[in-house]
Amino acid sequence: VFLDLARSISTNKKSNNGFKAIMSSHPTYAIPESIALSDVKSEQIRYTFSAVPSSLLAILAASLCLSIVQWEVIDHDTILGWFLVTNLISLVRLTIHQRFKRLPDTPLLDAIWYQLAYATALASGLCWAAAGILLYPPDSIVHQVFLAFVVAGISAGAITTLAAILNMARSFVILSILPVALQFYLNANELSLTMTLMTLYFMVMILISAKRLNQTIVESLTVRNQRELAQQTIRYQALYDELTELPNRRLLLETMQQEISTAERHNRFGAVFFIDLDRFKAINDSMGHTFGDELLVQVAKKITQRLRFEDTAARLGGDEFVVLLGDLGKDQEAASTHASKIAEEIRSLFETPLTIHDQEIHLTISIGIAIFPANVSAEDMLKYADVAMYQAKKDGRDKVRLFSTEMQEAVERRRRVERGLRQALDNNEFELYFQTQFDENHQISGAESLLRWNHPEKGVVAPGYFIDTAEQSGLIVPIGDWVLRSACEQLARLDSKSKVKLSVNVSPRQFADLEFIGRLKNIIAQTSADPSRLVLEITEGLAISNIEHSIDSMNQLRELGITFSLDDFGTGYSSLSYLNRLPVDELKIDRSFVTNITNSPENAVIVDTIIVMAEHLKLAVVSEGVETEDELNYLIGHNCHYFQGYYFSRPVPFEEFNAALGR
Ligand code: C2E
Ligand code: CA
Ligand code: CA
Repeated sequence: VFLDLARSISTNKKSNNGFKAIMSSHPTYAIPESIALSDVKSEQIRYTFSAVPSSLLAILAASLCLSIVQWEVIDHDTILGWFLVTNLISLVRLTIHQRFKRLPDTPLLDAIWYQLAYATALASGLCWAAAGILLYPPDSIVHQVFLAFVVAGISAGAITTLAAILNMARSFVILSILPVALQFYLNANELSLTMTLMTLYFMVMILISAKRLNQTIVESLTVRNQRELAQQTIRYQALYDELTELPNRRLLLETMQQEISTAERHNRFGAVFFIDLDRFKAINDSMGHTFGDELLVQVAKKITQRLRFEDTAARLGGDEFVVLLGDLGKDQEAASTHASKIAEEIRSLFETPLTIHDQEIHLTISIGIAIFPANVSAEDMLKYADVAMYQAKKDGRDKVRLFSTEMQEAVERRRRVERGLRQALDNNEFELYFQTQFDENHQISGAESLLRWNHPEKGVVAPGYFIDTAEQSGLIVPIGDWVLRSACEQLARLDSKSKVKLSVNVSPRQFADLEFIGRLKNIIAQTSADPSRLVLEITEGLAISNIEHSIDSMNQLRELGITFSLDDFGTGYSSLSYLNRLPVDELKIDRSFVTNITNSPENAVIVDTIIVMAEHLKLAVVSEGVETEDELNYLIGHNCHYFQGYYFSRPVPFEEFNAALGR
């Protein structure tokens, strides 16, 4: 019995797998609770149902044997009636069982199935109770014993499956055996008392076995349940985002790859939306992370709200979401139009504010769309949509943009530039130019190093062409190292009498690098440059994006004697409060404000304000991009003392710069 039990448990393949149900229906609407739904009670019911056909066969055989054996001692009508009713009930049980088998693989079973299992078991027990009364021959001990033998045997067999639900097994056993025992007791003869006791003893033994069996069954069902649950959870966590319960990047890419192949096969088109929340970081920083989390959950709900069942929404992490529309028809134009319409609808859903912790939040989103198939991988597809999203941001946020051929060209151009930059590093194609800075008496006060790429085909190329790509690809880190090393080498070569300082541009990515400080120290040591003549130019955005880290790094470098200049000042936040905290020595007014300063009152006001602010904080001010004498005179008149621009000098190669220094 136990072997059988163990085998049937381990081979019971009836899948109660909530996860599978989610996977096959739709990943978007997965809810983690559903993985916990596979409960033990349902398993118990399934277990009792699993043995129905074989037990019905056993009942048929036993009732047939019993009828034949009792034929000579019991009234024939009674036997026939009992046999028919007993097996009619079996037939009913069989039809119920057939329906049960057709049940979908849902994790939870309805209570009705529990009641049905119980009721049919009782009905069957009643048949055997009836046998104990109706088929009991008062005069033939042999037949009496045979009857008791069959009834007890049936009970013992039945509990192997009924014991999954203990009370069901108990009711069945007591119901079917007790009448025979009673009969023995009521029909007094020399054996009957012993038979009564023996039958009762047998019943108790079966009841005890039923209890043990029940424990074993429930335990193994529980263990299996937990194991399945654990496996589901592990799989779930690997594929789903915990916060929003949407598929994560991995599952998204898998699904996307499938959708793209299907679209290719069926000559149809689909779309990927790359959705990014506008200014999420600001909200997250000011309102706190719990608030931000809740916001993301609500955004996920809002996005999925507009989707059909077969569409997928996923979260890539951070505030980035992706929507996948698998089938937009066979016409590419129409698919694009349709996709844009849906994206526009999703975007406009956000016109109604979200309510988070009783607070109304107005949030906008930017969406980039890419249409597939486009002969590229899922990952590239995602990148295309990302590029379109970036365009939406650039166009002022709260927009929908479709990935276009121009964007495609831009992507390809960026790839080309990236490849070129790697070669440039290997082939030493970079060169530093220097642009001198002057004071109001036209004396040299310093110089800024500016990177140039001696391109094998294009000639000398300015950073506007490549610095963004370098930043995005991370190549800015090795390139920036090269710049620092080269600047330090030149600094060490400069006429030591001149004492001129060299400014070097440091990019955000470079400065955020944890090893930046260590490497810079190395470079200084190796080149024997004087760190007190080195100025690092960083941008406002960089400095305040992680202000604690910035302050800390800057202070470490200041200990070496290095000073800091805040580049492109006026284009970013320009707030006094953080400027006060940053250990900088100098501000560089962005050249966009200096240009036309004499004709633009707005620019003039900004420049005046910056100069006053800098005076207040005791910072030096350098005006960039001074091109005319009028501009210079205006700036001198408003208390700016240092200048850089074409009016004085263009950026020039080192030899030219060094020669100018000597003059
Ligand atoms: P930036 O730091 O604002 O550098 C000043 C830019 O203004 C330089 O452009 C310079 O040539 C240009 N400029 C100087 N005077 C005038 C003027 O009178 N009129 C006009 N119209 N422009 C003037 P460049 O060399 O093309 O560099 C562009 C940007 O590339 C730089 O802007 C800087 O952000 C970045 N960059 C340059 N070199 C490096 C570098 O070594 N590392 C990093 N990370 N970035 C660099
Ligand atoms: Ca600069
Ligand atoms: Ca600048």
